[in-house]
Parts: sequence; structure tokens; C-alpha cells
Amino acid sequence: MKLLIMGPPGAGKGTQAKILAEKFNLVHLSTGDILRSEIDKGSSMGLEAQSYMNAGNLVPDKVLLSMMDSTLENLKDKGLILDGFPRTIPQAEGLSTIFKSLNQKIDYVINIYVEKDVLINRLVERAEKSGRADDTKEVIVNRQKVYHKLTAPVIEFYNNEIINIDGDGSIEEVTSRILNIIE
Ligand code: ADP
Repeated sequence: MKLLIMGPPGAGKGTQAKILAEKFNLVHLSTGDILRSEIDKGSSMGLEAQSYMNAGNLVPDKVLLSMMDSTLENLKDKGLILDGFPRTIPQAEGLSTIFKSLNQKIDYVINIYVEKDVLINRLVERAEKSGRADDTKEVIVNRQKVYHKLTAPVIEFYNNEIINIDGDGSIEEVTSRILNIIE
């Protein structure tokens, strides 16, 4: 099974992706986590990504696409949940091309939606604990703006296949809303 999970920063997609990965035995591919581990390793990709991430901007599409191209090819026989990719229309188009060439398809596209005020509050709370360099109020607001401008159009791209899930509620409630549809 190949799942794609989308939603604005703070919607809880990473949390839900982790739960679904365990339940269905899927590889959890979080592009944010992969990029952060490249930064920790000090790789050239990490160095290129770092300044974009710290400012709450997106890392250029070509970096993401070349990273995901090789990753998806290596994992082509595995169940997957994609978390944080595609985040732009060119990435969504690139993903279609990659999957076509591997003769694969996405089974479910899950979109978690949450109201803006709830999101900002959640992220400010998380910022107090996480120590992530992109978890400051100013950067949080920028990430929401970037989401609306560049990532929200991806929902339209998957228009016919999208499963909209209300992300307001406890972690367990949101999980069971997802499971009600995909199980
Ligand atoms: P969040 O879900 O809170 O936005 P992520 O961990 O998914 O956080 O992503 C953190 C940062 O990593 C993003 O703000 C962006 O700079 C970078 N990033 C992750 N995925 C992508 C992507 N698909 N395209 C471009 N940049 C990305």
C-alpha cells in the first residue's frame, strides 16, 4: 500500500503518519526528518537545505525530486507513507512521473484539515518543547503562508482522490477517522 498524507504545518500529519506506518507496516518517509538528518550529518544536501528550512521556506523542488527519485526507486517493493512530499505542484507532477516509471500508484491521498488559529496555537506550544530551529513564532507564521501559497494547490491536483479528514480532536480520534475510511 502507498499512502500520501498532507496537511498544513501543525495538522498532526507526522503523528498520524507514524501511527499508520506501524499499523500497516509501512516505511514512513518524512521529508522533513530526512532533511534534518542530512543537516545533522553535514552533507552537501543538508547544507543546501538548512537556510531554507530555518527561515520556514521550502527547499528547492530539484533537491527534493532528486532525493525522492532515488529513495522511491530503492523502496519500490515496500509499502510506504509519504509525509511532507509532494509539497508543490512540480513535486506532485514529478511524483506522478516517478511512480509511472516504477509502475506504481498511490492508493490513498489523505488531507488533514485544521483551522488556522488551532494550528498556530499548537505550533507555538510545540515550539516550547521541540528546540527545532524553525519553531519560532515568526517562522511558524511564514510556514503557514508558504503552505497556503505553494502546498494548498496540491490538494486541487489530487482533487478526485482526496480523502479529507477533520484534524481537530485527540490523536486517537483523528486516527480512527482515517481508519474508518481506509480499512
Ligand atoms: P512541518 O510539517 O511542521 O511543516 P516538516 O518536518 O514536514 O515540518 O518540514 C520542515 C521543513 O523541511 C519545511 O518547512 C521545508 O523547509 C522542508 N521540507 C520538507 N519537505 C519538503 C518538501 N517536500 N519540499 C520542500 N521543502 C521541504
